[in-house]
Amino acid sequence: MPTNSLRPGTEVLTRGFDPSLSVGSARPAVFRSSTYVFSSPEAAERAFDIMAGRATPEPGEQIDLVYSRFNHPNAEILEDQIVPLEAGARAALVFNSGMAAIVTALFAFLRPGDTVVYTVPIYGGTQKLIENFLSAWGVAGIAAPAGQSEKIDDIIRTAKNVRMILVETPANPTVIMTDIARCAATARERSGERPIIAVDNTMLGPAFQHPLDLGADLVVYSATKYLSGFSDLIGGVVLAHDRELIQKIRSLRGLFGNILQPDECWMLDSRLPTVGLRMNRQSKNAQHIAERLARHPKVAKVLYPTLFDDAEQIRIRLKQCDFPGAMFSLDLRGGKKGAFEFLRNLKLARNAVSLGGVETLVCHPKTTTHSGFTEQQFAEAGITDGLVRISVGIEDWRDLLGDFEQALNAM
Ligand SMILES: *Cc1c(COP(=O)(O)O)cnc(C)c1O
Repeated sequence: MPTNSLRPGTEVLTRGFDPSLSVGSARPAVFRSSTYVFSSPEAAERAFDIMAGRATPEPGEQIDLVYSRFNHPNAEILEDQIVPLEAGARAALVFNSGMAAIVTALFAFLRPGDTVVYTVPIYGGTQKLIENFLSAWGVAGIAAPAGQSEKIDDIIRTAKNVRMILVETPANPTVIMTDIARCAATARERSGERPIIAVDNTMLGPAFQHPLDLGADLVVYSATKYLSGFSDLIGGVVLAHDRELIQKIRSLRGLFGNILQPDECWMLDSRLPTVGLRMNRQSKNAQHIAERLARHPKVAKVLYPTLFDDAEQIRIRLKQCDFPGAMFSLDLRGGKKGAFEFLRNLKLARNAVSLGGVETLVCHPKTTTHSGFTEQQFAEAGITDGLVRISVGIEDWRDLLGDFEQALNAM
């Protein structure tokens, strides 16, 4: 059967792994070897030529493995299996963290004198990378307010030397959505070399949001979150339709040495077939809970895609997101004191950063994940003293709602 007729839920379980290469084992073996024995000196020469880009592999050619900083069987299996989950992707790279994926993707394309436009709020590590680190290397960062389509268009049209546009949607912790297709269309109107559009799809991908189909060039993930799903490993992924983009990032990964290690690849590999199941359950749970908590007297506002009444946010959600996802934030009456009391009162949900795991996690962004912000950045990002961010897991939603309600009532 031609494999391109299969749907993602089937492909993720059937491609990329040949049991005969793992002595018939139904699950891949873990290959912890740091180096690989060449089948011949000629095969070694050929492998180095291909790795260095001096030669391109023939279709179906078996290329000898070299050394595990460049590549290893568990990374290859994982990369093959993750591709069908991302609509429009043809190639993937795995990294030892989400930040490693983002750093390597940015370094592959940005040079001194270039500008990177990025939506804010954005993941704290990404923001520090652009504002504190890349600026010292002569790369300018321009922050564009998430969800404000006209302002983002203006920046993309008028900024000089834009080499990359990095969109994170929905934004964390405000869950504001940015129109990916519109960013891509505006970027294509620029004269000269078209900027590369990268989307951090950690919050809604790969199940509910498909940036490559909307005109993005690169999708990046913190695989630590929904892809892995059990809060027990750190990893990252980059995917693209264009294999040349992936090749550029791949050679830098070999240099930086930030490929995902074999054991983590094996673990992540076993989580992929259930990512859609987990995210569906988590999103349904979150929607039930968010919509009910919106009526609670101690809650000033619930930030969640289906609860926004802004016309632009509704439009973006309907055209871009299959489901609203499992992250929401509560703006609590009672400021920081109220928020801390709420966290202390929780009995089932746990007070921790990170997100996307099967267990429900709650944190106070202003004093933790976003504590480096200035007051102005807090105001612009909409991060208030009373804001708590909730990542909903797969528990029974009625128990979680009960936990949140008792924590609110006891405030
Ligand atoms: C967690 C996260 C990252 C960073 O990923 P790590 O795996 O912690 O390095 C990047 N982007 C988003 C949206 C995240 O949530």
